[in-house]
Amino acid sequence: MDKESLIKYWKENKICSDEIIKIFKKIKRENFIPKLLKNEAYEDRPLSIGYNATISQPTTIVIMLQALNLKKNDKVLEIGTGSGYNAALIAELVKPGIVYTTEIIKELAKSAENNLKKVKIKNVKIINKDGSKGLQEYEPYDKIVFTAACKEIPYNLLDQLKEDGILLAPVGEYQQKMLKLIKKKEGVEIQSLGDFVFVPLQKD
Ligand code: SAH
Repeated sequence: MDKESLIKYWKENKICSDEIIKIFKKIKRENFIPKLLKNEAYEDRPLSIGYNATISQPTTIVIMLQALNLKKNDKVLEIGTGSGYNAALIAELVKPGIVYTTEIIKELAKSAENNLKKVKIKNVKIINKDGSKGLQEYEPYDKIVFTAACKEIPYNLLDQLKEDGILLAPVGEYQQKMLKLIKKKEGVEIQSLGDFVFVPLQKD
């Protein structure tokens, strides 16, 4: 696959908005993967970034960005920084809003920081800690997104979400359902976006 075929596939199947495609073109995935894998940057599959982590498959990423319905000025929490790529795309979509992203592995938090510098993105704050309970310091968020698999629906994080906010999380043990939770005044609305596979969320 190459970049153009991916984009063509997304357009034909109405996977995501033109705005997301514009940002995907702008922030180059090759800046977030190990040098040895550079020629695989636009394969539509996850790639290993070490420490048992992966940079997610491009199509999965744009499906998630679309589901988050990101708006300018949104304050977003991501759990699982990995390479920093997803955080970078979110940051461009919400700027001048801000992305807080937590990463449990110190080395990955550090390299994500460097990757974001390379692409000159400033509205991402990386926090090297377990994000499984969210990040109370900066709540409430407009959107919360897990990029590591939760064993159960993370209802506890709804407390850190604004009303009408969206929480997106892959939930399940070996294979996950991508769940979109919308926090309404009357209660939580849950939609499933289908099956995906993510690395599991670690706990301290
Ligand atoms: N969003 C990333 C891909 C994430 S892979 C990208 O765009 O590249 C999942 C990441 O979640 C891994 O880096 C893993 O180390 C991290 N992770 C796992 N459990 C975590 C936890 N409890 N808190 C924060 N990060 C966690």
